[in-house]
Amino acid sequence: MATPQQLQLLAPLSGVLMPLDQVPDPVFSTRVIGDGLCIDPTSQTLSAPLAGVISNVQASGHAISITDDNGVQVLMHIGLDTVNLAGKGFTRLVEEGQRVEAGQALIEFDADYIALHARSLLTLMLVVSGEPFTWLSPETGMVEGGQPLVSLHCVERIADEPAPEEGEALFSKPVTLANPNGLHARPAAVFAQAAKGFSASIYLHKQQESANAKSLVAIMALQTAFGDTVQVSAAGQDAEKAIDTLEALLTSGCGETVSVSVSVSVSAPVEALEPSSSKVLRGVCASPGSTFGQVVQIAEQRLEVSEPGRGAQVEREQLARALAQADLALQLLRNKATGDAQAEIFKAHQELLEDPSLLDQADALISEGKSAAFAWRAATEATAALFKGLGSALLAERAADLADVGQRVLMLILGVQDQAIELPEGAILIADQLTPSQTAGLDTRKVLGFATVGGGATSHVAILARAAGLPAICGLPAQVLALRNGSLVLLDADKGELHLDPELAAIEQLRVDRQRQEQRHQHVLAHAMQAACTRDGHHVEVTANIASLGEAEQAMTLGGEGVGLLRSEFLYLDRNHAPSHEEQARTYSAVASALGPSRSLVVRTLDVGGDKPLAYVPMASETNPFLGMRGIRLCLERPQLLRDQFKAILACAGLARLHIMLPMVTQLSELRLARQLLEEEALALGLDELPKLGIMIEVPAAALMADLFAPEVDFFSIGTNDLTQYTLAMDRDHPRLAAQADSFHPSVLRLIASTVKAAHAHGKWVGVCGAMASETLAVPLLLGLGVDELSVSVPLIPAIKAAVREVDLVDCQAIAQQVLGLDSAEQVREALRLYHEATVDNSLILEN
Ligand code: PEP
Ligand code: MG
Repeated sequence: MATPQQLQLLAPLSGVLMPLDQVPDPVFSTRVIGDGLCIDPTSQTLSAPLAGVISNVQASGHAISITDDNGVQVLMHIGLDTVNLAGKGFTRLVEEGQRVEAGQALIEFDADYIALHARSLLTLMLVVSGEPFTWLSPETGMVEGGQPLVSLHCVERIADEPAPEEGEALFSKPVTLANPNGLHARPAAVFAQAAKGFSASIYLHKQQESANAKSLVAIMALQTAFGDTVQVSAAGQDAEKAIDTLEALLTSGCGETVSVSVSVSVSAPVEALEPSSSKVLRGVCASPGSTFGQVVQIAEQRLEVSEPGRGAQVEREQLARALAQADLALQLLRNKATGDAQAEIFKAHQELLEDPSLLDQADALISEGKSAAFAWRAATEATAALFKGLGSALLAERAADLADVGQRVLMLILGVQDQAIELPEGAILIADQLTPSQTAGLDTRKVLGFATVGGGATSHVAILARAAGLPAICGLPAQVLALRNGSLVLLDADKGELHLDPELAAIEQLRVDRQRQEQRHQHVLAHAMQAACTRDGHHVEVTANIASLGEAEQAMTLGGEGVGLLRSEFLYLDRNHAPSHEEQARTYSAVASALGPSRSLVVRTLDVGGDKPLAYVPMASETNPFLGMRGIRLCLERPQLLRDQFKAILACAGLARLHIMLPMVTQLSELRLARQLLEEEALALGLDELPKLGIMIEVPAAALMADLFAPEVDFFSIGTNDLTQYTLAMDRDHPRLAAQADSFHPSVLRLIASTVKAAHAHGKWVGVCGAMASETLAVPLLLGLGVDELSVSVPLIPAIKAAVREVDLVDCQAIAQQVLGLDSAEQVREALRLYHEATVDNSLILEN
């Protein structure tokens, strides 16, 4: 039962009342957030229109909501697009959760600053909980702060209504928010509105916090930011549909224009400008490879525009025409695009053409008497500057997109033709930034590579260069822009170097190297099926790292002698419920059958958690996910997950030589407990022989205690990726530490050496399945340290087998001992390079 009540809302500000329909922002004028009113303020303190609890105050201070004891919820939003001010101009006087009286001051704001820096000062007061209201004063005209404005018709809610039967909650995949300001009022309103369309009960989760997805205020209270990872859960009849729809909505930005991917790249620091006499300029590799060619400078045309317009009507029409033409041109480029990556870029550009904020800004300037060209340029430049100033590498790249679209439309407004770039053969294009539009129009048959000052490894020029298989360097010093057209340069993208006026000998060397690489590639492919035996007859097993049945099959055709690491995560990730026993058992059995009974299959149990969360295993957020609930730790905390996996793996016993491997083991107790669970599952299945059980050595603790682990395992496999990360205390994915986080560091090598020694003392074999095993340079070193198996990336199997066949074990042992005593990874690499040059290249010639 409900009893109607009256509640008066006071004016939160002094100012001029304005009908909501006239607010130039559809998210407010269409009332998706709720009905209410708008005030153009003349005072600078926002006060409470009702008594209640502060249910949300945005960190940036531009929006606040109050919930009273009957559940009435009122949101106040100061200004339009003020979220972009990131808190500047606002002083919060209250805290979330605080009880306030009607009329109490909530936020002070600097009206001048906001009027100058945001789109508008218009302030909204909206009844989010949906109660109808009647006006107590005229709906337009001046109001005084604190004056009663409207009367709400409330109904007292009855608590504790029985919740409908909902069943188990489903979870979406984690979505990384690409909205520049997270889910602030506008996207939150769109999201809540969409959620209300489903009967399921739906929650939005950010780390350990959750919000009712149908409540705008609750979503805003999550205080999400750009780059936050969120998940949707739903329980009820239409839960699955709700998850699909809302996940897609979050990914697409909830009505805001966002970039498709949000992986934030931090480009490596560019070294200080070299003296002008320097013959090598350094940047970062954006697309691998090397080439030699002539400089072609690509500069953007700076267009002159006149500020005054010829009347708003004429200018508006001109802008609309140019936007339509630009859209058409981009559609043509999209249709002609070579691959999805390029097509996505032009699609994003088309979306920018429709961006309401850009269009509103341009339109406002046209209304003030400016020309279409002036208005459009001012709007795009202001937004691009805002993006650049937010300190995110990703947004800085979106600023480059905006500049590109801006220029395209500007040229159409002014009727300026694109200056066709006549390319000579063998061109290396040099530019401050190469825009997608510039690269799309180029004859790539004549382009050999790219070198730019701006951009990073995730910039569009990098994406396009990789798609076209052309080498590219970004982040070069601006000095590169002074190079003469036609001058000769050698672009070594692998090293991030641009060599100016290279010696003829260097050019010749590049040509010879390329030819030799190709020759070698053909050679190793032709011998892929031969065993990997050193010249002095020592056999090393070369197996594959795989994550699918397809890779298992491919590995066999490329000479793989088994599978040294099946990363089972692929069965568990990107889905909203755990794989069934049947699905798991079918997959493991299919992989095992592809290998056959004489080959080894090492299945690694689930290695997720922290950095790779599972949608259906909700976990508390962690400050250091790499040091948190990962791998075996997570599985032992949820033993049923591990038992189910063991049971499914055991289903393929007999189809291949089955091995089970535990990831991230740190304590002996973890190994013992996992073994006990495995034995229980095997017993329950009536198996009398257990598969081999081993552990990964990827935590220094395990390497240092290998002598204690060895008696209790059947084998070790060294995960050099994690072992390096934990030994050197360097995040394995850190873009700026990439060069230093090197598995060739002598400390890592010493841990490998002692692990092998401990294992062999107990008659156990040791593999290496980290990326180091896939490096040809590491082969003599790992063999010399006594490693028995190299588990490598599938396409590299033939090359690693060939590298084994080219060395003598006794030499490897000598070089391994030598490098263990060196100071640094660079020294180790250099010593191995010298050894490689002295032996391996000759051996290929000898074999031929
Ligand atoms: C490793 O850490 O070296 C390893 C092989 O495991 P992953 O790369 O899957 O963490
Ligand atoms: Mg690992």
